Amino acid sequence: MPAPLPFNSPPWVNAYVIESGEGLLMIDCGTDWEPGREALMRGFAELGLDPAAVHTLVVSHLHPDHVGMASRLVREWGWRFVMHSSAARLVPEYNDTPGYYRRIERIGKAHGAPEAMIAAATSAPRPSYMPLLDPPDHTVDDGDVIDLGGGRRLEVLHTPGHDRAHICLLDNRARVFFSGDHVLPRISPVVMYDGESDVLGEYLDSLRRLVVIGIGITYPAHGTLIDHGGERARQIMLHHDRRLLDMAGLVREGRATAWEVMLRSFRPNLNAIESRLALLETISHLDHLRAVGRIREDVVEGRVFYRV
Ligand SMILES: [Zn+2]
Repeated sequence: MPAPLPFNSPPWVNAYVIESGEGLLMIDCGTDWEPGREALMRGFAELGLDPAAVHTLVVSHLHPDHVGMASRLVREWGWRFVMHSSAARLVPEYNDTPGYYRRIERIGKAHGAPEAMIAAATSAPRPSYMPLLDPPDHTVDDGDVIDLGGGRRLEVLHTPGHDRAHICLLDNRARVFFSGDHVLPRISPVVMYDGESDVLGEYLDSLRRLVVIGIGITYPAHGTLIDHGGERARQIMLHHDRRLLDMAGLVREGRATAWEVMLRSFRPNLNAIESRLALLETISHLDHLRAVGRIREDVVEGRVFYRV
């Protein structure tokens, strides 16, 4: 059930409904706004399904285009709300807009972003389409199974990278893989440095698992179906390899901040949101190059410079 989003990139999210022994299980639900809600209700009607028959909503990860409407739906319909166990720490973070803005300001200043960009990225009020989120009723971890009845199960894969809470679900019978944003057709999900660990390294490890398992038909959260999820994962790994090589090359030309590397790696004239995402994506690459020993970082008066 494609649900429109209040922004252009990406323009919609795919919510999935799976028939199980005792009702329906839903994966992702979109942002909390009226066109999205209408699209879901229309989707149920077109499929001849009743939203009251849903017993469980699983969200692939904690981004508003996947989880934004969850609390409204869960309260309205009494669904059981399920996400990855890191929710205990990450739901309070999701609800803390001032805390998020403080982190963006700290990272932006340390990595050379101009004051105007930082101000633009940290001044907007919390969007109405991402109201505060209630904690889940139930959490899952890597290797857990969600029993659908009749011998059919969804196997949980924890796939951190795009989000620390990200999970994918593998239908053990149909072998259909629900990838969330972990692999998408045509675009690669943003991998955002958060100051904690080598997030790109974790993302690449999560992609490698799909190649090893040999994931086939894949239902992503944005865009159309992917024939071979494992192949798509390999393409995205190559994209990051190339970008790592390019960024290492830029650092080799001379000491640089992440902001300077970002300006030379992405197209010009990014808006405030795109600049923030591009900077975090750039730092995740530079930090990965640092973590694997290919470049170094110097901190001079609170500012991070990368060099070979
Ligand atoms: Zn998404």
